[in-house]
Amino acid sequence: AMTERLVEWDKKHYFHPTTPLKEQQAKGPAHIFTHGKGIHVTDVYGKEFLDGVSSLWNVNVGYGRQELADAAREQMMTLAYGSSFFNNSHDVVIRLSQKLASMAPGDLNVSFFTSGGSESNESAIKIVRHYWKMKGQPERKKIIALERSYHGVTMGATSATGVPEFKNMITAIAPDFLHALPHQTECELGDSSAPGYERSIRGIIEKEGPETIAGVILEPVQGVGGIQIPPEGYLQAVRQLCDEYGILMMTDEVITGFGRTGKMFGVEHWEVVPDLMSVAKGITSGYIQLGAVMMTDRLRDELADLSDNVFFHGFTYSGHPTACAVALKNIEIIENERLVDNAKQMEQELWKGLNYLQDTHKIAAKPRAIGLMGGIELLADPDNGTTFEPSTFAAPAVVEECAKRNLILRPLIFGGLNVIAIAPPLIVDKQDIETIIATLSDSIQAFEQRVM
Ligand code: PLP
Repeated sequence: AMTERLVEWDKKHYFHPTTPLKEQQAKGPAHIFTHGKGIHVTDVYGKEFLDGVSSLWNVNVGYGRQELADAAREQMMTLAYGSSFFNNSHDVVIRLSQKLASMAPGDLNVSFFTSGGSESNESAIKIVRHYWKMKGQPERKKIIALERSYHGVTMGATSATGVPEFKNMITAIAPDFLHALPHQTECELGDSSAPGYERSIRGIIEKEGPETIAGVILEPVQGVGGIQIPPEGYLQAVRQLCDEYGILMMTDEVITGFGRTGKMFGVEHWEVVPDLMSVAKGITSGYIQLGAVMMTDRLRDELADLSDNVFFHGFTYSGHPTACAVALKNIEIIENERLVDNAKQMEQELWKGLNYLQDTHKIAAKPRAIGLMGGIELLADPDNGTTFEPSTFAAPAVVEECAKRNLILRPLIFGGLNVIAIAPPLIVDKQDIETIIATLSDSIQAFEQRVM
């Protein structure tokens, strides 16, 4: 009876993110989860699922970690809250800043704290515009992002986002955001005869005039846009391009940070150091809200010299002590348990599984994986590249079949795609990957039998 009441209250009182409103009102929630332990979550009916996507790609160390609960409790009892305003500080935020500086690539040694990924990108965009304004070049305000990108839902982050669904549902986005075709390495290197040149970052910079461009923002590996891994050389080409025109490079490591791709940070795969780097999600493995935008010593020092030091931007919860304490403990777990190495090793198992799916199912195509960030695409006819009709809801249907078989995966369907994302907690072993692949295989088969 309690469960029925929960369903009714959810229908009546709870407005879910990105959910068809009518459907939710009629059917109630897809799952009501009550417990989590390791890589598994249990719902209100006692059904246990393997969480193959770490919730929202964030529960990197898995569920039910006593150490993280203890760290939060201890910090709440010691100093429950402390602000970073008026030049105040506290020991945990200082220690976390130092720790992040020691981990981040290059001279990304300075952190500004937020409560999540959207706020981190929002802050990065404002830092970049503040920089150019203080440099006496206020006309340098345009931000170039990539099509298919996802940067969050605050006004600046949503304006930078390239996935159409997130922008089309409101009447106006912020001005001065431009979108380039992703991963056009040849164009970015300067080959103006390469196809798509006008819509590449370089093509857009040349058309708009570099003196109007403040920064470029991109995910090292696009997540929500379909797990799109850039070709070798792409990130380096964008770094070079930004250097050529003095444009600031922002990378969004909200998903790729903290081990997800088999390196601590995604950009390490290509040995690129951005000017600003946004992190969130895996910084606390989702146990508590925290994000940061990291910047280079050079950028911070230049800002200090330029602007009489006042950046009028900050959140009540910038550098929240409890969140910082949990982050420090979470990073300790990632390091002590060598979870970044494990993600790297498990990538091999994931590739084996994805290749097996491609070999055994006609509709399974284009396997992709980097660390424990992987996926497979469903195509009606891979030989001709024919996609499924949107009305088939191919990826969502397969994911529903997975849920029947106690496995949670995520369909990525924005912009007409049908990708199934696989991004389990970084603590998985070979057998867990095999379970995920076997269950996904059965689920694809069930879907094939129904529609083909
Ligand atoms: N950037 C990327 C790459 C993301 O995947 C997300 C969330 O999925 C965000 C930003 C937004 O982060 P948040 O939901 O914490 O605001």
